[in-house]
Amino acid sequence: REYACSKREEAISNFRFVGKLESATPYGNGHINDTFLLVFSQPDMGNHRVILQRLNNEIFKKPEEVMANILGVTSYLKKQIIANNGDPDRETLNIILTKDGKPFYKDSIGSYWRAYFFIEGATCFEKVEKEEDFYESAYAFGHFQMLLSDYPADTLYETIVGFHDTASRFETFKKVVQADVCGRASAVQEEINFVLQREELIHILPDMFQAGKLPLRVTHNDTKLNNIMIDNCTGKAVCVIDLDTVMPGFAVNDFGDSIRFGASTAAEDERDLEKVSCDMALFECYVKGYLKGCEGKLTDTEVSLLAAGAKLMTFECGMRFLTDYLDGDHYFKIHREGHNLDRCRTQFKLVQDMENKWDTMTKIVEKYGS
Ligand code: ATP
Ligand code: MG
Ligand code: MG
Repeated sequence: REYACSKREEAISNFRFVGKLESATPYGNGHINDTFLLVFSQPDMGNHRVILQRLNNEIFKKPEEVMANILGVTSYLKKQIIANNGDPDRETLNIILTKDGKPFYKDSIGSYWRAYFFIEGATCFEKVEKEEDFYESAYAFGHFQMLLSDYPADTLYETIVGFHDTASRFETFKKVVQADVCGRASAVQEEINFVLQREELIHILPDMFQAGKLPLRVTHNDTKLNNIMIDNCTGKAVCVIDLDTVMPGFAVNDFGDSIRFGASTAAEDERDLEKVSCDMALFECYVKGYLKGCEGKLTDTEVSLLAAGAKLMTFECGMRFLTDYLDGDHYFKIHREGHNLDRCRTQFKLVQDMENKWDTMTKIVEKYGS
Protein backbone atom coordinates (compact mmCIF):
# COMPACT_ATOMS: atom_id res chain seq x y z
CA ARG A 1 0.00 0.00 0.00
CA GLU A 2 2.83 2.37 0.85
CA TYR A 3 4.40 1.56 -2.45
CA ALA A 4 1.09 2.26 -4.15
CA CYS A 5 0.90 5.60 -2.35
CA SER A 6 4.15 6.97 -3.69
CA LYS A 7 3.26 6.05 -7.24
CA ARG A 8 -0.30 7.23 -6.84
CA GLU A 9 0.67 10.89 -7.11
CA GLU A 10 2.54 10.15 -10.31
CA ALA A 11 -0.50 8.33 -11.69
CA ILE A 12 -2.93 11.07 -10.69
CA SER A 13 -0.92 13.72 -12.49
CA ASN A 14 -1.13 11.73 -15.71
CA PHE A 15 -4.92 11.47 -16.06
CA ARG A 16 -7.23 14.04 -17.60
CA PHE A 17 -8.78 14.98 -14.27
CA VAL A 18 -10.56 18.28 -13.93
CA GLY A 19 -10.34 20.52 -10.86
CA LYS A 20 -8.18 20.60 -7.79
CA LEU A 21 -7.43 17.39 -5.94
CA GLU A 22 -8.84 17.67 -2.42
CA SER A 23 -8.23 14.14 -1.17
CA ALA A 24 -7.19 10.62 -2.14
CA THR A 25 -8.10 7.75 0.19
CA PRO A 26 -8.33 3.95 0.02
CA TYR A 27 -11.88 2.93 -0.80
CA GLY A 28 -14.27 -0.03 -0.81
CA ASN A 29 -13.93 -3.73 -0.08
CA GLY A 30 -12.39 -5.04 -3.28
CA HIS A 31 -10.02 -8.00 -2.93
CA ILE A 32 -8.21 -7.77 -6.21
CA ASN A 33 -7.10 -4.23 -7.05
CA ASP A 34 -6.07 -1.26 -4.92
CA THR A 35 -9.00 1.13 -5.06
CA PHE A 36 -8.87 4.85 -4.15
CA LEU A 37 -11.48 7.55 -3.94
CA LEU A 38 -10.37 10.93 -5.28
CA VAL A 39 -12.27 14.13 -4.61
CA PHE A 40 -11.82 17.10 -6.93
CA SER A 41 -13.18 20.60 -6.45
CA GLN A 42 -13.98 23.22 -9.05
CA PRO A 43 -14.88 26.83 -8.33
CA ASP A 44 -18.67 27.37 -8.49
CA MET A 45 -19.25 23.72 -9.41
CA GLY A 46 -18.72 21.93 -6.13
CA ASN A 47 -16.92 18.62 -5.79
CA HIS A 48 -16.92 15.55 -7.94
CA ARG A 49 -15.55 12.12 -7.20
CA VAL A 50 -13.43 9.65 -9.13
CA ILE A 51 -12.39 6.03 -8.57
CA LEU A 52 -8.70 5.36 -9.19
CA GLN A 53 -7.44 1.78 -9.23
CA ARG A 54 -4.07 0.13 -9.40
CA LEU A 55 -4.55 -3.17 -11.19
CA ASN A 56 -3.41 -6.36 -9.59
CA ASN A 57 -0.54 -7.44 -11.83
CA GLU A 58 -0.26 -10.87 -10.21
CA ILE A 59 -3.68 -11.80 -11.52
CA PHE A 60 -3.80 -9.73 -14.69
CA LYS A 61 -0.71 -10.53 -16.68
CA LYS A 62 -1.81 -8.45 -19.64
CA PRO A 63 -3.39 -5.27 -18.24
CA GLU A 64 -3.49 -3.68 -21.71
CA GLU A 65 -5.81 -6.44 -22.82
CA VAL A 66 -7.98 -6.09 -19.73
CA MET A 67 -8.35 -2.38 -20.42
CA ALA A 68 -8.96 -2.91 -24.14
CA ASN A 69 -11.84 -5.24 -23.24
CA ILE A 70 -13.27 -2.74 -20.76
CA LEU A 71 -12.95 0.17 -23.19
CA GLY A 72 -14.64 -1.81 -25.95
CA VAL A 73 -17.50 -2.97 -23.77
CA THR A 74 -18.15 0.32 -21.96
CA SER A 75 -18.08 2.35 -25.20
CA TYR A 76 -20.62 -0.02 -26.70
CA LEU A 77 -22.74 -0.02 -23.53
CA LYS A 78 -22.88 3.76 -23.58
CA LYS A 79 -24.41 3.75 -27.07
CA GLN A 80 -26.86 1.03 -26.12
CA ILE A 81 -27.91 2.82 -22.94
CA ILE A 82 -28.58 6.01 -24.88
CA ALA A 83 -30.61 4.03 -27.43
CA ASN A 84 -32.63 2.60 -24.52
CA ASN A 85 -33.25 6.07 -23.03
CA GLY A 86 -31.02 5.33 -20.06
CA ASP A 87 -28.41 7.49 -18.34
CA PRO A 88 -24.98 6.71 -19.83
CA ASP A 89 -23.20 8.49 -17.00
CA ARG A 90 -24.64 6.19 -14.36
CA GLU A 91 -25.55 2.93 -16.00
CA THR A 92 -22.08 1.93 -17.10
CA LEU A 93 -18.56 2.51 -15.89
CA ASN A 94 -17.06 5.54 -17.62
CA ILE A 95 -13.33 5.42 -18.21
CA ILE A 96 -11.33 8.62 -17.74
CA LEU A 97 -8.47 8.68 -20.22
CA THR A 98 -4.90 9.67 -19.53
CA LYS A 99 -3.41 12.87 -20.87
CA ASP A 100 -2.06 10.95 -23.83
CA GLY A 101 -5.45 9.40 -24.54
CA LYS A 102 -4.97 5.91 -23.12
CA PRO A 103 -7.42 4.00 -20.89
CA PHE A 104 -4.61 3.26 -18.40
CA TYR A 105 -1.43 4.77 -17.06
CA LYS A 106 1.69 2.65 -16.65
CA ASP A 107 3.81 4.06 -13.85
CA SER A 108 7.60 4.20 -13.70
CA ILE A 109 7.84 0.81 -12.00
CA GLY A 110 5.41 -0.95 -14.27
CA SER A 111 2.12 -0.84 -12.36
CA TYR A 112 -1.07 -0.09 -14.27
CA TRP A 113 -3.60 2.49 -13.13
CA ARG A 114 -7.07 3.35 -14.43
CA ALA A 115 -9.80 5.76 -13.48
CA TYR A 116 -13.59 5.85 -13.60
CA PHE A 117 -16.15 8.49 -12.76
CA PHE A 118 -17.72 7.69 -9.41
CA ILE A 119 -21.29 6.43 -9.70
CA GLU A 120 -23.18 8.69 -7.31
CA GLY A 121 -26.32 7.96 -5.34
CA ALA A 122 -25.90 4.20 -5.38
CA THR A 123 -24.50 1.55 -3.06
CA CYS A 124 -22.62 -1.69 -3.38
CA PHE A 125 -23.88 -4.36 -0.95
CA GLU A 126 -21.55 -7.02 0.37
CA LYS A 127 -24.13 -9.63 1.30
CA VAL A 128 -27.59 -10.63 0.19
CA GLU A 129 -29.79 -9.39 3.01
CA LYS A 130 -33.03 -8.98 1.14
CA GLU A 131 -34.35 -11.16 -1.62
CA GLU A 132 -35.02 -7.94 -3.57
CA ASP A 133 -31.29 -7.25 -3.78
CA PHE A 134 -30.63 -10.71 -5.16
CA TYR A 135 -33.40 -10.09 -7.69
CA GLU A 136 -31.81 -6.76 -8.63
CA SER A 137 -28.41 -8.33 -9.14
CA ALA A 138 -30.03 -10.96 -11.39
CA TYR A 139 -31.82 -8.25 -13.32
CA ALA A 140 -28.60 -6.22 -13.66
CA PHE A 141 -26.55 -9.10 -15.04
CA GLY A 142 -29.41 -10.10 -17.36
CA HIS A 143 -29.74 -6.50 -18.57
CA PHE A 144 -25.96 -6.38 -19.11
CA GLN A 145 -26.30 -9.49 -21.29
CA MET A 146 -29.22 -7.92 -23.16
CA LEU A 147 -27.37 -4.66 -23.89
CA LEU A 148 -24.34 -6.61 -25.12
CA SER A 149 -26.18 -9.32 -27.00
CA ASP A 150 -24.99 -8.07 -30.41
CA TYR A 151 -21.44 -7.26 -29.29
CA PRO A 152 -18.85 -9.25 -31.28
CA ALA A 153 -17.69 -11.32 -28.30
CA ASP A 154 -14.91 -12.98 -30.30
CA THR A 155 -13.11 -9.63 -30.52
CA LEU A 156 -12.54 -9.63 -26.74
CA TYR A 157 -9.27 -10.89 -25.34
CA GLU A 158 -9.35 -14.04 -23.24
CA THR A 159 -7.52 -12.34 -20.38
CA ILE A 160 -7.50 -15.43 -18.18
CA VAL A 161 -6.99 -18.29 -20.60
CA GLY A 162 -9.23 -21.31 -20.07
CA PHE A 163 -11.14 -19.67 -17.22
CA HIS A 164 -14.18 -21.92 -17.67
CA ASP A 165 -12.59 -24.61 -19.77
CA THR A 166 -14.03 -27.34 -17.59
CA ALA A 167 -12.57 -30.10 -19.74
CA SER A 168 -9.02 -28.86 -19.30
CA ARG A 169 -9.61 -28.38 -15.58
CA PHE A 170 -10.79 -31.99 -15.52
CA GLU A 171 -7.54 -33.11 -17.19
CA THR A 172 -5.55 -31.17 -14.59
CA PHE A 173 -7.62 -32.81 -11.87
CA LYS A 174 -6.83 -36.30 -13.16
CA LYS A 175 -3.10 -35.52 -13.35
CA VAL A 176 -3.10 -34.19 -9.80
CA VAL A 177 -4.91 -37.31 -8.54
CA GLN A 178 -2.30 -39.46 -10.31
CA ALA A 179 0.64 -37.53 -8.89
CA ASP A 180 -0.89 -37.35 -5.40
CA VAL A 181 2.05 -35.25 -4.17
CA CYS A 182 0.69 -34.88 -0.63
CA GLY A 183 -0.52 -38.46 -0.23
CA ARG A 184 -4.04 -37.17 0.34
CA ALA A 185 -5.87 -39.05 -2.40
CA SER A 186 -6.66 -42.30 -0.60
CA ALA A 187 -8.58 -40.48 2.14
CA VAL A 188 -10.78 -38.59 -0.33
CA GLN A 189 -11.66 -41.38 -2.71
CA GLU A 190 -15.33 -40.60 -2.32
CA GLU A 191 -14.84 -37.01 -3.55
CA ILE A 192 -12.57 -38.16 -6.37
CA ASN A 193 -15.20 -40.63 -7.52
CA PHE A 194 -17.83 -37.92 -7.32
CA VAL A 195 -15.91 -36.06 -10.03
CA LEU A 196 -15.12 -39.09 -12.16
CA GLN A 197 -18.75 -40.22 -12.18
CA ARG A 198 -19.82 -36.89 -13.64
CA GLU A 199 -17.34 -36.62 -16.46
CA GLU A 200 -20.14 -36.23 -19.02
CA LEU A 201 -20.96 -32.80 -17.55
CA ILE A 202 -17.78 -31.26 -18.88
CA HIS A 203 -18.73 -31.84 -22.51
CA ILE A 204 -22.21 -30.32 -22.53
CA LEU A 205 -21.33 -26.71 -23.35
CA PRO A 206 -18.32 -27.25 -25.64
CA ASP A 207 -20.27 -29.81 -27.67
CA MET A 208 -23.20 -27.43 -28.07
CA PHE A 209 -20.81 -24.65 -29.07
CA GLN A 210 -19.01 -26.87 -31.61
CA ALA A 211 -22.37 -27.79 -33.10
CA GLY A 212 -23.19 -24.10 -33.52
CA LYS A 213 -26.04 -24.26 -31.03
CA LEU A 214 -24.59 -22.06 -28.32
CA PRO A 215 -23.56 -18.45 -29.01
CA LEU A 216 -20.38 -16.93 -27.70
CA ARG A 217 -21.31 -14.04 -25.41
CA VAL A 218 -19.71 -11.23 -23.48
CA THR A 219 -19.48 -12.72 -19.99
CA HIS A 220 -18.69 -10.90 -16.76
CA ASN A 221 -17.20 -13.79 -14.81
CA ASP A 222 -17.53 -12.21 -11.38
CA THR A 223 -21.28 -11.87 -10.97
CA LYS A 224 -21.36 -11.17 -7.23
CA LEU A 225 -23.82 -8.88 -5.53
CA ASN A 226 -21.02 -6.44 -4.67
CA ASN A 227 -20.23 -5.96 -8.32
CA ILE A 228 -23.44 -4.08 -8.96
CA MET A 229 -24.52 -0.68 -7.71
CA ILE A 230 -28.03 -0.29 -6.32
CA ASP A 231 -29.79 3.08 -6.42
CA ASN A 232 -30.15 4.62 -2.96
CA CYS A 233 -33.62 6.00 -3.69
CA THR A 234 -35.32 3.38 -5.82
CA GLY A 235 -33.55 0.20 -4.61
CA LYS A 236 -33.14 -0.76 -8.27
CA ALA A 237 -29.90 -1.92 -9.85
CA VAL A 238 -28.16 0.94 -11.65
CA CYS A 239 -24.93 -0.45 -13.02
CA VAL A 240 -22.71 -3.51 -13.35
CA ILE A 241 -19.16 -2.70 -12.22
CA ASP A 242 -15.85 -4.57 -11.92
CA LEU A 243 -15.37 -5.47 -15.57
CA ASP A 244 -11.83 -6.87 -15.19
CA THR A 245 -12.85 -10.40 -16.09
CA VAL A 246 -15.08 -9.53 -19.04
CA MET A 247 -14.28 -12.19 -21.63
CA PRO A 248 -15.85 -14.23 -24.40
CA GLY A 249 -17.82 -17.10 -22.86
CA PHE A 250 -21.25 -18.61 -22.32
CA ALA A 251 -24.12 -16.73 -20.69
CA VAL A 252 -25.13 -19.83 -18.75
CA ASN A 253 -21.78 -19.81 -16.96
CA ASP A 254 -22.36 -16.32 -15.57
CA PHE A 255 -25.85 -17.37 -14.55
CA GLY A 256 -24.59 -20.62 -13.05
CA ASP A 257 -21.87 -19.03 -10.98
CA SER A 258 -24.39 -16.58 -9.49
CA ILE A 259 -26.54 -19.50 -8.39
CA ARG A 260 -23.57 -21.42 -7.05
CA PHE A 261 -22.75 -18.83 -4.43
CA GLY A 262 -25.92 -16.73 -4.31
CA ALA A 263 -28.56 -19.42 -3.83
CA SER A 264 -26.61 -21.56 -1.39
CA THR A 265 -27.99 -21.69 2.15
CA ALA A 266 -24.52 -21.83 3.70
CA ALA A 267 -21.04 -20.38 3.44
CA GLU A 268 -18.67 -21.80 0.85
CA ASP A 269 -16.56 -23.42 3.61
CA GLU A 270 -19.34 -24.61 5.94
CA ARG A 271 -18.33 -27.86 7.65
CA ASP A 272 -21.82 -28.93 8.62
CA LEU A 273 -23.09 -30.22 5.30
CA GLU A 274 -26.61 -30.52 6.70
CA LYS A 275 -26.76 -26.75 6.38
CA VAL A 276 -25.78 -26.72 2.71
CA SER A 277 -28.46 -26.71 0.04
CA CYS A 278 -29.58 -24.81 -3.04
CA ASP A 279 -32.49 -22.63 -1.98
CA MET A 280 -35.27 -22.97 -4.56
CA ALA A 281 -36.89 -19.66 -3.58
CA LEU A 282 -33.60 -17.87 -4.26
CA PHE A 283 -33.11 -19.86 -7.45
CA GLU A 284 -36.55 -18.80 -8.64
CA CYS A 285 -35.87 -15.21 -7.67
CA TYR A 286 -32.64 -15.16 -9.70
CA VAL A 287 -34.15 -16.91 -12.75
CA LYS A 288 -37.01 -14.43 -12.75
CA GLY A 289 -34.75 -11.36 -12.49
CA TYR A 290 -32.17 -12.64 -14.94
CA LEU A 291 -34.65 -13.55 -17.67
CA LYS A 292 -36.51 -10.30 -17.19
CA GLY A 293 -33.22 -8.42 -17.61
CA CYS A 294 -32.33 -10.43 -20.72
CA GLU A 295 -35.56 -9.32 -22.44
CA GLY A 296 -35.71 -12.37 -24.64
CA LYS A 297 -32.18 -12.03 -25.96
CA LEU A 298 -31.11 -15.48 -24.80
CA THR A 299 -31.75 -18.27 -27.29
CA ASP A 300 -34.11 -21.12 -26.35
CA THR A 301 -31.07 -23.36 -26.04
CA GLU A 302 -29.41 -20.99 -23.60
CA VAL A 303 -32.57 -20.80 -21.50
CA SER A 304 -32.89 -24.57 -21.51
CA LEU A 305 -29.30 -24.83 -20.22
CA LEU A 306 -29.61 -22.44 -17.26
CA ALA A 307 -30.12 -25.17 -14.66
CA ALA A 308 -27.27 -27.15 -16.23
CA GLY A 309 -25.09 -24.05 -15.99
CA ALA A 310 -25.75 -23.83 -12.26
CA LYS A 311 -24.82 -27.46 -11.73
CA LEU A 312 -21.82 -27.24 -14.01
CA MET A 313 -20.31 -24.14 -12.39
CA THR A 314 -20.77 -25.65 -8.93
CA PHE A 315 -19.22 -28.92 -10.08
CA GLU A 316 -16.28 -27.10 -11.68
CA CYS A 317 -15.67 -25.04 -8.58
CA GLY A 318 -15.78 -28.10 -6.29
CA MET A 319 -13.38 -29.91 -8.61
CA ARG A 320 -10.98 -26.96 -8.47
CA PHE A 321 -11.06 -26.94 -4.67
CA LEU A 322 -10.38 -30.68 -4.64
CA THR A 323 -7.56 -30.30 -7.17
CA ASP A 324 -5.94 -27.64 -5.03
CA TYR A 325 -6.35 -29.73 -1.87
CA LEU A 326 -4.66 -32.71 -3.50
CA ASP A 327 -1.95 -30.50 -4.96
CA GLY A 328 -1.02 -28.95 -1.61
CA ASP A 329 -3.17 -25.79 -1.44
CA HIS A 330 -1.22 -23.53 -3.78
CA TYR A 331 -4.00 -21.64 -5.47
CA PHE A 332 -6.80 -20.81 -3.02
CA LYS A 333 -5.69 -19.22 0.23
CA ILE A 334 -6.44 -21.49 3.19
CA HIS A 335 -7.07 -20.43 6.77
CA ARG A 336 -7.22 -23.88 8.35
CA GLU A 337 -6.18 -27.47 7.77
CA GLY A 338 -8.40 -29.09 5.14
CA HIS A 339 -9.99 -25.78 4.15
CA ASN A 340 -10.04 -26.60 0.45
CA LEU A 341 -11.50 -30.02 1.15
CA ASP A 342 -14.29 -28.41 3.20
CA ARG A 343 -14.95 -26.05 0.31
CA CYS A 344 -14.99 -28.92 -2.17
CA ARG A 345 -17.52 -30.77 -0.02
CA THR A 346 -19.95 -27.85 0.15
CA GLN A 347 -19.84 -27.58 -3.64
CA PHE A 348 -20.44 -31.29 -4.17
CA LYS A 349 -23.26 -31.22 -1.62
CA LEU A 350 -24.82 -28.43 -3.69
CA VAL A 351 -24.38 -30.41 -6.90
CA GLN A 352 -26.09 -33.37 -5.29
CA ASP A 353 -28.87 -31.18 -3.98
CA MET A 354 -29.40 -29.73 -7.47
CA GLU A 355 -29.56 -33.25 -8.87
CA ASN A 356 -32.28 -34.07 -6.34
CA LYS A 357 -34.15 -30.88 -7.17
CA TRP A 358 -33.64 -31.12 -10.92
CA ASP A 359 -37.35 -31.31 -11.78
CA THR A 360 -38.13 -28.27 -9.68
CA MET A 361 -35.23 -26.33 -11.21
CA THR A 362 -36.21 -27.11 -14.79
CA LYS A 363 -39.86 -26.27 -14.07
CA ILE A 364 -38.87 -22.91 -12.61
CA VAL A 365 -36.79 -22.11 -15.71
CA GLU A 366 -39.67 -23.15 -17.99
CA LYS A 367 -42.08 -20.98 -16.04
CA TYR A 368 -40.11 -17.78 -16.71
CA GLY A 369 -38.38 -18.78 -19.92
CA SER A 370 -41.37 -19.31 -22.14
P1 ATP B 1 -13.41 -7.71 -6.24
O1 ATP B 1 -12.88 -8.22 -4.97
O2 ATP B 1 -14.91 -7.67 -6.30
O3 ATP B 1 -12.82 -8.35 -7.49
P2 ATP B 1 -11.95 -5.33 -7.09
O4 ATP B 1 -10.71 -5.25 -6.30
O5 ATP B 1 -11.88 -5.84 -8.48
O6 ATP B 1 -13.04 -6.15 -6.27
P3 ATP B 1 -13.90 -3.26 -7.72
O7 ATP B 1 -15.03 -4.17 -7.51
O8 ATP B 1 -13.64 -2.77 -9.11
O9 ATP B 1 -12.56 -3.85 -7.08
O10 ATP B 1 -14.06 -1.94 -6.82
C1 ATP B 1 -14.04 -2.02 -5.41
C2 ATP B 1 -15.19 -1.23 -4.85
O11 ATP B 1 -15.08 0.14 -5.21
C3 ATP B 1 -16.55 -1.65 -5.36
O12 ATP B 1 -17.06 -2.73 -4.63
C4 ATP B 1 -17.36 -0.38 -5.18
O13 ATP B 1 -17.79 -0.24 -3.84
C5 ATP B 1 -16.35 0.70 -5.46
N1 ATP B 1 -16.40 1.18 -6.85
C6 ATP B 1 -15.70 0.70 -7.91
N2 ATP B 1 -15.95 1.41 -9.02
C7 ATP B 1 -16.84 2.37 -8.67
C8 ATP B 1 -17.48 3.45 -9.36
N3 ATP B 1 -17.24 3.70 -10.65
N4 ATP B 1 -18.33 4.24 -8.65
C9 ATP B 1 -18.57 4.02 -7.34
N5 ATP B 1 -17.99 3.03 -6.64
C10 ATP B 1 -17.13 2.21 -7.29
MG1 MG C 1 -15.63 -6.02 -7.16
MG1 MG D 1 -12.81 -7.51 -9.33
